[in-house]
Amino acid sequence: MKFIKCKELKDKKTDLAFGKNFTDYMFVLEYHNGAWDYENACIKPYEPFSLDPSTSVFHYGQAVFEGLKAYKNDKGEVRIFRPMDNMNRMIDSCERVCIPPFDTKFVHDALVELVKLEKDWIPTAPGTSLYIRPFAMGVDKALGVHAAKNYILSIILSPVGAYYTHGLAPVSLCVEEHYKRACIGGTGHHKVAGNYAASILAADLAEKKGYDQVLWLDAQENKYMEEVGSMNIFFVIDGVVITPMLAGSILPGITRRSTIELLKARGYKIEERRVSVAEVVAAADNGTLNEIFGTGTAAVVSPVGTFGYLGKDYQVGDGGMGKITKYVYDELTGIQTGIKPDEFGWVEKVI
Ligand SMILES: *Cc1c(COP(=O)(O)O)cnc(C)c1O
Repeated sequence: MKFIKCKELKDKKTDLAFGKNFTDYMFVLEYHNGAWDYENACIKPYEPFSLDPSTSVFHYGQAVFEGLKAYKNDKGEVRIFRPMDNMNRMIDSCERVCIPPFDTKFVHDALVELVKLEKDWIPTAPGTSLYIRPFAMGVDKALGVHAAKNYILSIILSPVGAYYTHGLAPVSLCVEEHYKRACIGGTGHHKVAGNYAASILAADLAEKKGYDQVLWLDAQENKYMEEVGSMNIFFVIDGVVITPMLAGSILPGITRRSTIELLKARGYKIEERRVSVAEVVAAADNGTLNEIFGTGTAAVVSPVGTFGYLGKDYQVGDGGMGKITKYVYDELTGIQTGIKPDEFGWVEKVI
């Protein structure tokens, strides 16, 4: 792998607003002449791409991304959470939008090398981490809707604090009646860039109504809970943990999978099945809706205090953070940071 050294390093920012500051270096791998050019893969100073105005991704959005985190403890040890899972999911996303598959081991190793190089950027305070953003896009200089012949795959890094500025405080969700994020056969099952463009309007409207995020319903029947903006969703009803099953329109979250594996191993009752909004409203009405929480790399676990549906607001449990929510948060972040033993083999200790 090539390495181009920075002439000058940036001041390490203490502002850890999510995704606002980036480290000194980036990774770049290009695809041309029918192959990924591993020989010229490069870790180099973080800098803008220079792209022609006709570049295909600007017009047709042939792009995918990933998100994962590295954690550093006060002994200086650095851990990355399930990075190969992200590589494998990225390959699946690429396949869905005709981006040629890449060598996951090569990109994984480049990611680890980049994180090691940038270790001094990783914050150590509780709740902080280094957010890792791999992405890939079609960069043909030509209009016309078809798979590009040229691609860029890149990785950038951003030191981050807690995802929500108000910390682990419960969020409010608005069950979206009209707009859809994903449908079976579409791209919602993959981390494809356009999915997020499709979600912004509903998120803006929900925010204007005073909610933090949108809770999406299925596109076919408009009845079943799917997920939140960039989080999967879990309900605790009468002591049973329930999460919508993956049926082709829900993003297969790695935090979701980890939560299911953790709770199963610890003897919780957990079901992956369809959950209707009617079931959750009924549980809220009869006092059996104990908890709702979201899971995703950015926030890890996010308690839900209220949700709105058809103009009415429902309180979840006592409106505060639930017991299982707190348990999952403490266990997952404990494993991620190395405070708790990694009994599932999820963590790669890179330093
Ligand atoms: C990334 C993402 C998630 C969470 O996935 P993790 O692997 O847990 O970070 C959930 N839903 C959507 C739509 C996402 O983009």
